[in-house]
Amino acid sequence: MTIPLLVGNWKMHGTRAECVERARKIVRGLRQIPVAAEVALAPPYTGLACVKEVLKNSDVRLAAQNCHWEESGAYTGEISPVMLYEIGCDYVILGHSERRHILKESDQMIAQKIAAALRLGLRPIVCVGETLEERRGGRTRTVIGRQLRFALKATAKAAIQNIEIAYEPVWAIGTGQNATPKQIGQVHNQIRKLLLKSFGAEKGHRIRILYGGSVKPENAETLMSTPEVNGLLVGGASLSPATFLPIVRSVTA
Ligand code: PEP
Repeated sequence: MTIPLLVGNWKMHGTRAECVERARKIVRGLRQIPVAAEVALAPPYTGLACVKEVLKNSDVRLAAQNCHWEESGAYTGEISPVMLYEIGCDYVILGHSERRHILKESDQMIAQKIAAALRLGLRPIVCVGETLEERRGGRTRTVIGRQLRFALKATAKAAIQNIEIAYEPVWAIGTGQNATPKQIGQVHNQIRKLLLKSFGAEKGHRIRILYGGSVKPENAETLMSTPEVNGLLVGGASLSPATFLPIVRSVTA
C-alpha cells in the first residue's frame, strides 16, 4: 500500500495573509515531527498562489477545492483545471458534499470534472457520502455505489492510479460526530470491492481511500488504524496548526 494521504480542506476560511501564516506554521511544524504521510493543503482559490510559494521548498502538496469541467469559456465565477494546474496544484477535491448538497452539483457534473482534472494533470480527490436521512433509510450502500459508479465511469483504466477516493458521511462533516470504525470499515470495504472489480487487483489495491468527517487529534489514530483507511480529509481541525500537526503526528509508519 502507498503512503497515507492527509488533506487539510480550509474551505472558505482565510484571507491571503492568514493562509500564508497558517501554511508557514504547518510547514515549520512538519519539519519538527516524524511525517509518515503525504500532506496536502487546500486553501481557498485566492490563497492558492501565495500558499504555493510557502510550500515550494517542502514536500507538502497543494490542492484546490473544486474546478469546472471545461478548460475555458463563458462560465462566470468558475475556475478551470488548466488555471489550477498553472498555479501548481497537485490535487483537486471534487464532489465534496457541500458542493453536492448546497450548490446542487450532480453525479454527472462531478464525473465531467473528474475527467477534466485527470486530462489536465491534476489528481482528483473524489468525495462520496450519504446524508443522515439516507443512512437512516438504509440507503447508504446504494448511494455510495451510485456516486462511485458515476465517478469511475469518468476514469479511464490508465488514469485510475491518479485518483483518490474520500468517504465523507455528510452527517459527520463539521458536526463533531464522526462515523464509528465499524461504519467506516463497511463503506470502505464496499468501495475497495468496487475498485477491485472495475480495475483489477493490482490497480484496485493501490487506490487510497480516505475518511473525512470531524477528524480531530483525539480520534485520528483510531481512524487511521481502521482497516482500509488510507488517509484523512480534515476540515475544521486543519485550520489550526495546533490541531492539524498532532493529526499528522498520529500517523506512524
Ligand atoms: C471536510 O470538509 O471535508 C470535513 C471533513 O470537514 P470536518 O473535518 O470539519 O468535518
